[in-house]
Amino acid sequence: MDGATGASRCKRVQEVQLVTGHHVTDVLRMHGEVTCHVPPPAAGSSFKMADNEAAAIKSRGQPRIDVIRERSERRATMIIRKRVWPRTVSDLLSMAFVLTIAPLLYWFGLWVVLPGLYGDENLAYTLHFALGSFIMLNIVGNFTYTVLCDTSTGGGGRIVPVSTARAADGWRLCPACECLSPPRSWHCNVCDTCILKRDHHCVFTGCCVGYYNHRYFVMFLWYLFLGAAYAFCYGSLFIWTRIPFEFPMSIVKMVFPVAIFFFGFDSSIDQFYLLLYVVSAVGTLYTGVLCVYHFSLILRGVVGDESNKKDFRYDLGWRDNVKEVFGERWYLTWLLPYIKSQLPHDGVTWHHLCSKKD
Ligand SMILES: [Zn+2]
Ligand SMILES: [Zn+2]
Repeated sequence: MDGATGASRCKRVQEVQLVTGHHVTDVLRMHGEVTCHVPPPAAGSSFKMADNEAAAIKSRGQPRIDVIRERSERRATMIIRKRVWPRTVSDLLSMAFVLTIAPLLYWFGLWVVLPGLYGDENLAYTLHFALGSFIMLNIVGNFTYTVLCDTSTGGGGRIVPVSTARAADGWRLCPACECLSPPRSWHCNVCDTCILKRDHHCVFTGCCVGYYNHRYFVMFLWYLFLGAAYAFCYGSLFIWTRIPFEFPMSIVKMVFPVAIFFFGFDSSIDQFYLLLYVVSAVGTLYTGVLCVYHFSLILRGVVGDESNKKDFRYDLGWRDNVKEVFGERWYLTWLLPYIKSQLPHDGVTWHHLCSKKD
């Protein structure tokens, strides 16, 4: 496509409405027109659309504006992802690992360690039990919300006026989805869709982290860290009063706890406790590092890819950056995932970017 033709086609496209994340044929099908095709974009080209497609849409004037407004007003309700089952073996194994280890550490901490340290009928035990259960509730709740929340460009029929779709703002034609994808979105090969403000694909939740589930993912990570650190601290008190430290066997048992336990070298319950203790130590380090990384991204108003490219055009200052992820009631969202907190944008249009430019 030459430059002039491309520009005129782009202008015609801007005279119609498009469904973000939907194939252009879907849009036309809504209006009774199904004879179109969107070719994959050539290198360096702008949005492409055949003349007959643009003309077919143009002849219908300005459709569906009411629908656009109506649907955007419903954004306070979470859209449920349709296919939540993990799509790769690594996703499946990673999810299974988390879903096994988290309950095991919960059991270890509250049913083994705490009664061993405090007994089971006193105020200290009750307080620790309540705190541990609060952490576990947040792990389960935020995990569930992260997995169920649809943050893809096509989720729930998100619609925007294509007049806002300027290539200069970061709109692009995704060759895999064959649809226009908004700024900050990116295609995930595993999820097989474009994700709004995509951060990364998380193997432990088997889904992408994007605009609408970012809050839940970060809180899931935060409470995993708290839970692991909690289990590690009290596990330290418990383990070393119960198991005498013997050099070098104790070191070997801690470095290879899985092999020692499962291959029959020491299948005692103490070795199983030691295994959980080591997992809590490794988990504390791992989730701690991830928490520092993700919170620093949030405070700087970027996702992982933007940070790597040093693209800070969406940085609004730490307070608004936090609101961008946790919503208007950001100061309450750490309590429970069930607390509603309206996000300031829709993940498609970035008004602050336009106003900055204007
Ligand atoms: Zn895509
Ligand atoms: Zn993904």
